[in-house]
Amino acid sequence: MAIGVYPGSFDPFTCGHMDILKCAAGLLDTVVVAVLQNTGKTPLFSVEERVALIEDAVRAEGLKNVRHDCFGGLLVDYARNVNAKYIVRGLRAVMDFEYEFQIGIMNNKLAPDVETLYFMANPEHMHISASIVKEVGALGGSIDGLVPEVNKSSIIERLKNR
Ligand code: ADP
Repeated sequence: MAIGVYPGSFDPFTCGHMDILKCAAGLLDTVVVAVLQNTGKTPLFSVEERVALIEDAVRAEGLKNVRHDCFGGLLVDYARNVNAKYIVRGLRAVMDFEYEFQIGIMNNKLAPDVETLYFMANPEHMHISASIVKEVGALGGSIDGLVPEVNKSSIIERLKNR
């Protein structure tokens, strides 16, 4: 079984994240989308809420081999716990490369048995980040096409009541 972990903050999960997830799900037997628990920032959604939004988005896409979870601590420890041999990451333009390069090498040193797979962002969604979604949405701009349709109203509602 080729199992991959797709880790991230996913606050919120975007169409860019979905592109990467679909590519990974097409290649691997199972992909676990894992929401990182230990970010220092004040999030828009709690970890549980983010997992629930991902669950709705995955169901709406009909992805049968995708699971969702959350984790804290070292990613490679979590990957081993769920028997994942792969870490899935997405690369937008150069802005992601340096960080991904550094963390990829570190993870490889910590766990040479876990391979990181990098998927190129879809050019149509390359400009999307969770923070730009929050910024645009908070100012009343349209977030159509930036986040999964099924998650849109929850995100708009939360940004309004923030
Ligand atoms: P992190 O907080 O670790 O950066 P994110 O939740 O922002 O995690 O993103 C998780 C992964 O998804 C990262 O590998 C990131 O590069 C990738 N990603 C984020 N936005 C996009 C996008 N628009 N297209 C492709 N990949 C993306």
